[in-house]
Amino acid sequence: RIAYVNGAYVPMSEACVHIDDRGYQFADGVYEGVSVRHGKLIDLEPHLDRLWRSLGELQMMAPMDRGPMRLVLKEVVRRNRIKDGFLYLQITRGVAPRDHPFPAQTPWPAMVVTAKRLNFDAVMDRAMTQGVAGSSQPDIRWGRCDVKSTSLLPNILAKQAAREAGAFEAVMVDRDGYVTEGSSTNIWMVTKDGTLVTRSTDDNILPGITRASVMKVARDLQMKVEERAFTLEEAKGAAEMFLTSSTSCAMPIVSLDGQKIGDGTPGPVAKRLVEAYKAFMDA
Ligand code: PMP
Repeated sequence: RIAYVNGAYVPMSEACVHIDDRGYQFADGVYEGVSVRHGKLIDLEPHLDRLWRSLGELQMMAPMDRGPMRLVLKEVVRRNRIKDGFLYLQITRGVAPRDHPFPAQTPWPAMVVTAKRLNFDAVMDRAMTQGVAGSSQPDIRWGRCDVKSTSLLPNILAKQAAREAGAFEAVMVDRDGYVTEGSSTNIWMVTKDGTLVTRSTDDNILPGITRASVMKVARDLQMKVEERAFTLEEAKGAAEMFLTSSTSCAMPIVSLDGQKIGDGTPGPVAKRLVEAYKAFMDA
């Protein structure tokens, strides 16, 4: 595998960063994950929009303009001969002696890009036939979850707790009992009358790129979509649930805390969305 590290394409075994990098010491950085399907970067422009927004919110500068960045991302895909896969891009505030405030002398931001293969046909197949289990976990994150920061400890702990409970994803719940999002996904439910519901993005969740694309696909299919908060209890009584993310596309959640959602199999609405999202990716 080949990685991009601060201006060079290097074998993974030689890809390394400085121990005084603020990403390493403080998780003072942002990232993006972009899916690659048939060699094409899916929703690249929205991902770059979100990256620039994250950088701006943390008063970080971009290490390069969007044009060269597009070229670097495509080059990493090409050099790794990825047809279906996942591209990871991380930018940190750079290298400076460890001290909490931003360095007085602004360092050049550090940027790394890696890519790996991911079998989207297998993901979609699982979505159509099996789905995944969810496990509710308290959302103990900070107040700026709209920023795609590499500070992911609460997400990691929630995902781990979910895995230990035998589930694929944590369904995070705020103090008032409302579902926020998954540890690395956005969460949706389908009401008994067929309306899709997902939390609105002004509520300290990550504005998922897949969330936005699935929403568009759903509206194109004349489905009704509501952006509002819903409780864990409401979700458990829903006709269907599913999650969205770049790596999972649209994935039915067929059980939550061991309780079946609907009949405990991927439902008709989610399955239609999986197929429509696949067509969107393949277009
Ligand atoms: N929420 C969180 C907390 C995430 O980390 C992610 C994926 N990085 C998502 C949602 C899904 O976002 P996207 O559809 O852009 O992959």
